[in-house]
Amino acid sequence: MAPRVLLLGGTAEARALAARLVAADIDVTSSLAGRVADPRMPVGPVRVGGFGGVDGLRAALVDYDAVIDATHPFAATMSANAVAACTAGPVQRPLLRLERPGWAERARPSWHWVDSHDQAATETARLGERPFLTIGRQQLARFVPALRDTAALARVVDAPEFELPPRWRLINSRGPYQLAGELALLREHRADVLVTKDSGGEYTWPKMLAADELGLPVVIVARPAVPAEIPVVADVDAALAWLSAQRRLR
Ligand code: NAP
Repeated sequence: MAPRVLLLGGTAEARALAARLVAADIDVTSSLAGRVADPRMPVGPVRVGGFGGVDGLRAALVDYDAVIDATHPFAATMSANAVAACTAGPVQRPLLRLERPGWAERARPSWHWVDSHDQAATETARLGERPFLTIGRQQLARFVPALRDTAALARVVDAPEFELPPRWRLINSRGPYQLAGELALLREHRADVLVTKDSGGEYTWPKMLAADELGLPVVIVARPAVPAEIPVVADVDAALAWLSAQRRLR
């Protein structure tokens, strides 16, 4: 029998993998958290919403033979839950982590690495007064105490649920972005520091090039660590190869 794959998604890589699996006639269900009001949908069957923690995910595993965690590098809770559910408990399943490489290899001297969003907020306040915040809606509130009096420009997909400080400005948009547009936006805002997570990939890389070209410092939040005990691949082809090896092992 063909394996049934649970694909934890919410990323471009997950959508690309879902498309390849559907094209190969593999039984895949993509899972989305349901955070974004109008998400880009993967092809094939999709389920939306949390599982209800590790126990809920464990219960869901009976319907699948393998799990691929292709969530965002900063979706650390979901990834940890996947490891806990798949590697311990009554219904264990092979688990693969698909994670796009980070930007560390492209780092510039003007980048200020920090380990948390709270550190990022403090470092940003030290470096500028007109920050461009590209760290997503969920973490935005953590930047308010340190940056309340700055003229911050925050770019998010969906508006946050709290009231922004009076000098803050919000842009609702979703990548991918191009260098010309990023340069224009940074210039128009007169940004003096860019704030980002180490999301990796190409969709949002142009803002890093734009900051570099304008000589702006970048505050960059380092990724949470991936649990050591599971295999990790960096692209869709490698994920397909892993899945095919699982099928041979069955
Ligand atoms: P998170 O903090 O790791 O997850 C929090 C909870 O959301 C999880 O415990 C789980 O709820 C639910 N969840 C997360 N991803 C899920 C998925 N793919 N399918 C079903 N439930 C999911 O995650 P997050 O940072 O809020 O990210 C949420 C989603 O947005 C992820 O799918 C991620 O790939 C995507 N995303 C995140 C970022 C980011 O910067 N964090 C950026 C782009 C896209 P239960 O415990 O109830 O199962």
